[in-house]
Amino acid sequence: MNKKLKIDGIFAEALPVLNQIVEAGFEAYFVGGSVRDRLLNLEVNDVDIATSAQPHEIKEIFTRTVDVGIEHGTVMVLVEGVSYEITTFRTESTYKDFRRPDSVTFVRSLEEDLKRRDFTMNAIAMDAEGYIIDPFAGIKDLNAGIIRAVGNPHERFREDALRMMRAVRFSAQLDFEIEAETQVSIKENAPLLEKIAVERIQVEFEKLLTGTWHANGLAAMIQTRLYLYCPELANKKAALVSLIQDENKFEHVRQAWAFLLYKIDEYDPTDSFNARKFLKAWKLSNKLMDQAVMIFNALKQRVTNKILDEWEVFCLGKEFALETESLVQHLEEPPAFDKVVNIYEHLPIKEKDALALTGYDLMNATATKPGRWMSEAMEAALQAVVYAEIQNDKEEILTWLIEKNLIPGLNDE
Ligand code: ATP
Ligand code: MG
Repeated sequence: MNKKLKIDGIFAEALPVLNQIVEAGFEAYFVGGSVRDRLLNLEVNDVDIATSAQPHEIKEIFTRTVDVGIEHGTVMVLVEGVSYEITTFRTESTYKDFRRPDSVTFVRSLEEDLKRRDFTMNAIAMDAEGYIIDPFAGIKDLNAGIIRAVGNPHERFREDALRMMRAVRFSAQLDFEIEAETQVSIKENAPLLEKIAVERIQVEFEKLLTGTWHANGLAAMIQTRLYLYCPELANKKAALVSLIQDENKFEHVRQAWAFLLYKIDEYDPTDSFNARKFLKAWKLSNKLMDQAVMIFNALKQRVTNKILDEWEVFCLGKEFALETESLVQHLEEPPAFDKVVNIYEHLPIKEKDALALTGYDLMNATATKPGRWMSEAMEAALQAVVYAEIQNDKEEILTWLIEKNLIPGLNDE
């Protein structure tokens, strides 16, 4: 007798979708991460649905559909304002270059579909009544906290090398062990990671870094030598090892990157570590890169000076200043959140735009052509106001800039 679960929460909401497919004469199941997380009593945010119906058949059943990945068998359907991804049972028969295939073959049996999935814990299905279909003993592995490849691990990793990164990131998210044979196989096939697009490795690595047990994931990356084939990590073992000691969780991915940068910088024997170049190799978005580098630089200041000062808090803004402060916990120091909030609350101005002096005012003060001097003068004025050396008053700022010789072309007067 199969295990039976109560269909509740998000599964209950999605049940009409499953039923509609079943009423049309096809099979439909909840699968993948949603079933795994439900079995682990973790929060489930979206459900994956697998079906024997082909994409064109799904499109006949539902009135509102979007072709999101029809070549891979995925159709999005909209039911009562909620979107669901429905994927036709498929196998991935042709793998080129150790990457996931560009074409798939649709099959009519659930079991064949579950067989192409990466780990036993991800190859469990649940039907509309809550009955569990678990042909690869995924529940047993879930209960034991084991990440085990479905079938022959060697073949599975050679089909799609990204699965190796998925294994280590699940160990970081779930506090699971990678089963011995699966682990050996990752070690053997680790070089194949180089065939995988950096963007896909990045997704998994970020999930690893922000996982509650990132130390586990990093330890597994070192043990399996996967880190050697990740962008710019091959000669960063010491920094990664030092991160394994860290038991605090990162709340935001930008903090995780910032802290990794900090550790790499700390352990860099050449002292010429280029944070931006490192993150570029990982293909971070410009926005995330800017944020991570900003927090990294601020953390260095914070550690050196034991406190973030007014200017640093001003540049970071309250949110990022607190995120920087929170990183000192990872260095086994108590964070001083109150101090940061206090500094922020007492800043004379909170934004650049609030400065009482504009570029126009500067241009009107001298006949000198606009140029670099202007941004330098503005920055100096901003700092003086933020440090409360002068009031945020146009005349006072101008007088101060003149005194400091920061406006060229005035000396002869
Ligand atoms: P998350 O909770 O991070 O979403 P997930 O396991 O749900 O984890 P998804 O990328 O959403 O990951 O994939 C959904 C399901 O598709 C997985 O549970 C697994 O069954 C299957 N899957 C995803 N990626 C692969 C892969 N590279 N190889 C084999 N099966 C995969
Ligand atoms: Mg998922």
